[in-house]
Amino acid sequence: LANNLYSHLDLKAEPEKVLFIENARKMKYGEFVKRAGQYATALTENYSIKKGDRVMARVSKSIDTAALYIGCLQIGALYIPVNPGYTESEAAHYIKDATPSLLVTCNEELDKAFRNQISVINESKLSSDVSTLKPCTEIEHVELQDPASICYTSGTTGLPKGAILTHKMLINNTNNLVKQWNFTDNDRNLHALPFYHAHGLFISFLCSISSHSTIIWRPRFDVEDTIQHLKTSTVMMGVPTFYSRLLNSPNFNEEAFGNMRLFLSGSASLSSAIFEKFKEHTGHVILERYAMTEALVITTNPLNGIRKAGTVGLPVPGVDLRIATNSNVIEIRSPAIFGGYWKNPKKTAEEFTEDGWFKTGDVGFVDEDGYLTIGGRSKDMVITGGLNVYPKELEDFIDTLPFVEESAVIASPHPDFGEAVVAVVVPNDKSVNHKEFEQKLIGIMKKKVANYKVPKRVILLDSLPRNHISKIQKKELREAYKHLFS
Ligand code: ATP
Ligand code: MG
Repeated sequence: LANNLYSHLDLKAEPEKVLFIENARKMKYGEFVKRAGQYATALTENYSIKKGDRVMARVSKSIDTAALYIGCLQIGALYIPVNPGYTESEAAHYIKDATPSLLVTCNEELDKAFRNQISVINESKLSSDVSTLKPCTEIEHVELQDPASICYTSGTTGLPKGAILTHKMLINNTNNLVKQWNFTDNDRNLHALPFYHAHGLFISFLCSISSHSTIIWRPRFDVEDTIQHLKTSTVMMGVPTFYSRLLNSPNFNEEAFGNMRLFLSGSASLSSAIFEKFKEHTGHVILERYAMTEALVITTNPLNGIRKAGTVGLPVPGVDLRIATNSNVIEIRSPAIFGGYWKNPKKTAEEFTEDGWFKTGDVGFVDEDGYLTIGGRSKDMVITGGLNVYPKELEDFIDTLPFVEESAVIASPHPDFGEAVVAVVVPNDKSVNHKEFEQKLIGIMKKKVANYKVPKRVILLDSLPRNHISKIQKKELREAYKHLFS
């Protein structure tokens, strides 16, 4: 088998098949291969990019972005996507960290400042430049362990880390997922995820193109836009907020989801409440899976078989999973493990056990059928009076209450207990009386869970703070409510 992910995708097999549908525009596989080849030529000839060189893409989501990404793979260059919404100083951090040879940008004005360090080119300029070039047709030879990309983690627990993604891990995980979720060339995948994060860039995109299926390409998630385009789609990968927003729209009806065969969810915990509501409303059981930039998809609920609410399913083939005895941290061994943190061997070493297992940083447990439940991040655990509280268990319960939209359970320093459980809740009725709400919720929880798990305080908010990929920012909440008991 070929080592380069590009060869593995076998993009030339069905040149007449439609790859992208973007509004009225359709692009076939044959045309895309040519476009990516033109990008490959531009990189080599105009910018002297060679195997192992790094190309940073701070670009908008477009078919040309995808062609740039695949063109990098073809020549063995490392594709490094970063959020186009970053400010100049944020971008400066990534440039300093990744030291790319070329920066392709959608924000030339801002990125002019980097001209003295590296070549900077505007994405539209590059787009028009490549149109006249002869497409490169060769595929660079690489080793399986060679890096294909550096992808930054979401920065939920600290500064984003540059994870080195190898050809091997991308090939292995893509193969697994196509089989697990049964992607075929009849599928039409609604792609509304960001294209600079592992979920949209590797998991969703590679499942589609390696199965030679069609992508309904949307610039971003917008609920009404998604409802329109779901009508002609068969599958969608989303984050949990996609599903809660769809359920809130009066237009999300049978006509919208009639052709769908599969809804997938990941990147953050899907509440059992949304899972159940979605099932009731659509008849579809959302398939939840668990992934990290460092290991791609680790576990998934089955396509055929029971998809258990609140769980992230079973390890994908090849992955070994264990729960560390004292900390309950999920540890894995996987053929799809990353090649380490970029320029940070110390951090890399810290994240592996002495016997070579990767410490995910998530806490969990496995049920009698082998299904994994994630209790939360180890940094988000609440230890109150020496007892561990899993935020996910309480959030899942609170979210099912009819007067609650969503919740986040956090720790706040407490003079007697070390930490106290605090529930941050978005009520359905935003004008509800705080004291009454707090008493009511605490009263209900006292009957439902052991005393030490009952929140000592309830905070009401209109919405929870989320990052670009919809992950709840518990760091921010902890910071905001650290003085509740002092
Ligand atoms: P950072 O590592 O920079 O703090 P991050 O961990 O959020 O950020 P990603 O690699 O994008 O960066 O996300 C991986 C994490 O997302 C997992 O470790 C896990 O905490 C969370 N996650 C992914 N899927 C699920 C899921 N289905 N349920 C709960 N959590 C999930
Ligand atoms: Mg992480």
